[in-house]
Amino acid sequence: MPENTVNTEFKPQFTAYEGNLDGTLLQKEEGPKNFYGMSQDDLKKFLKGLGKEQFRAQQIFKWVYEERITDFEQMSNLSKKFREELKGLIDFSLPAVVSHLKSIDGTQKFLFDMGDGNTVEAVLIPGGEDRLTLCISSEVGCNMACKFCFTGKQKLKRRLKASEIVGQFMQVHDRLQADGKRISNIVFMGMGEPLDNPDAVFKTVEVLHDPWGINMSRRKITVSTSGLVPEMWRIIESKCRLAVSLNGSNDEIRSQVMPINKRYNIKMLLDACREYAEKTGDKVTFEYVMLKGVTDQLEHARELHKLTRSIPCKINIIPFNEHPGSGFERPSDDQIEKFQNELIRLGSHVLLRRTMGRDIFAACGQLTSEFANKPRTMDISNSKIGSIYSKADLKNEKLKAAELTNS
Ligand code: SAH
Ligand code: SF4
Repeated sequence: MPENTVNTEFKPQFTAYEGNLDGTLLQKEEGPKNFYGMSQDDLKKFLKGLGKEQFRAQQIFKWVYEERITDFEQMSNLSKKFREELKGLIDFSLPAVVSHLKSIDGTQKFLFDMGDGNTVEAVLIPGGEDRLTLCISSEVGCNMACKFCFTGKQKLKRRLKASEIVGQFMQVHDRLQADGKRISNIVFMGMGEPLDNPDAVFKTVEVLHDPWGINMSRRKITVSTSGLVPEMWRIIESKCRLAVSLNGSNDEIRSQVMPINKRYNIKMLLDACREYAEKTGDKVTFEYVMLKGVTDQLEHARELHKLTRSIPCKINIIPFNEHPGSGFERPSDDQIEKFQNELIRLGSHVLLRRTMGRDIFAACGQLTSEFANKPRTMDISNSKIGSIYSKADLKNEKLKAAELTNS
């Protein structure tokens, strides 16, 4: 489609990327099914195939998600024969946590081994009060190739299965539970483009939303997209929150830093955003990465305001987080403030995102599954969350990206 053609048909005519990159379709699972990739409806269907009653699915969900019992032997309201039968059919394995790092600001980063040589990262970000946001990954690498993003430097290696995305959540959930804490929000802002792997992403939403399971409100789940317009209707349907990485105030700049814009330009993207706001009554969050000399000028702020003013939205300014060999720079604090003030003056609802987890390389756009170029950090893999540092420790500057256990 030529760059300036408006796509009035919002529902997809095709899926952007189907199957694996080598042209083969996604592999069918063999052997026992992983429980965490199944919604309650999937489990019901599965049990129906075994000639079992549907209400058993609810019972099993309650055992697993509420009691955290994953040994069928202990599910006392199931018959002994049934428990035996289920043992070989369903497994509860989770991606292993191979590294767990904690930043001076309380942000924590988890590196997961996906069992096939691939690794992904998730980041837990503390906010005010009881807010604990988990930023999860949907893919190993990313094919969108945004020029400023560390993940985008790695080509897509593979899409994660729903069980592997839910698995990231459950690993962190279990560690928090030991401290009496809970994840309050989920953002799909880790590695990968969620709408490039929509089946697994929205299956994850279904699983984590289940009232007999984690019972996470859909409104506490944000899906961030670089703008795969034909798949954006699925965010409306899922009733999750929409975040859009805009990152350019006109097509020329956006195409330069986000190649996806050559396929789905700003007009097409904003039409989809408008439709989201109309249908859900929710605001869109626009993410805007500030790159020195590229997207940080006051004229860009004015263009950005003009583009977004007719859409119920807020703008989240993200100062560029540096990574090796990116070729971009973070603007000065002064320039960031001027940019923000210009947007405020024009009447935009704008927030400046505080950079979190910089010392452990966990900030936006710094995630990778490759170990090269990683900074020195502290590994707390075997600790319980939140219990390793005292307040006095946190004040101690020496802890900043200090002790090395992970090189
Ligand atoms: N693929 C999705 C979600 C993951 S990226 C998307 O692009 O929306 C999450 C956010 O990090 C995006 O808004 C992206 O623009 C931003 N980002 C990527 N690299 C960055 C960097 N180096 N510094 C600051 N933000 C970055
Ligand atoms: Fe992929 Fe998002 Fe990074 Fe772009 S910003 S390369 S879409 S992860």
